[in-house]
Amino acid sequence: MDAELLRQYLEFYQDLGIKTLYRQRPPVEQALSPANAPSTAIPMDLPPLAPANDTLFKIIEDIGDCHRCRLSQGRNKIVFGVGNPQAQLVFVGEGPGADEDAQGIPFVGRAGQLLTQMIENTAKKEGIEILRKDVYIANVVKCRPPENRNPEPDEMEICGQFLHRQLSVIRPKAICALGGIAARALTGHKEGVTKMRGKWFKWQEIPVMVTYHPSYLLRQYNQDAKREAWEDLKRVLHFVYD
Ligand code: URA
Repeated sequence: MDAELLRQYLEFYQDLGIKTLYRQRPPVEQALSPANAPSTAIPMDLPPLAPANDTLFKIIEDIGDCHRCRLSQGRNKIVFGVGNPQAQLVFVGEGPGADEDAQGIPFVGRAGQLLTQMIENTAKKEGIEILRKDVYIANVVKCRPPENRNPEPDEMEICGQFLHRQLSVIRPKAICALGGIAARALTGHKEGVTKMRGKWFKWQEIPVMVTYHPSYLLRQYNQDAKREAWEDLKRVLHFVYD
């Protein structure tokens, strides 16, 4: 792994208590599922098994100075993930943009600022005391796709195994998939995000709420989508924190 990224990552987690990085959570027998969660799991190949006693730190080490796919050629920084390693809620985006690639932190550009506002403002309005730092945020692919194109299936498959390991270590109570790429990577469903949003799916027994990607919400004409995304977020926040 790029030593600078590792240093930044460790520094960041020092604030949260470095021990949490090395600690593996006990496996959850059965994630709670919302009453209205349909059993929509469809057969898909499971990701490769994670090593025993996996930790976020081990995953970072295994990623290393990754050159497993072509996305490594244009990247500046690997964008691993950020937030509370014991978060009850994980947001999953598609892949880093230019700002994330420069800083090595997910969702720090315009879309990221909107995501932060959405999380913090909705939580506050709903009387839920959480900030962005209390959740965990990661992407399906960890390197920026050129020109912000969608990640290719092989890139998602290769990098997706690290996301699956992150989720297995964190074992949140729920996951929020931001946009179609994340929804597909987590659920295997191929419908568009408009059809999937607002519904519960599952990733390995953990409920997954699908909603719009914040970049889509930044487009001016998407007022209805904005309202819908706020509704989706409210549902997931109440499910996790009530
Ligand atoms: N869009 C994403 O999907 N992820 C990021 O980290 C930033 C923008």
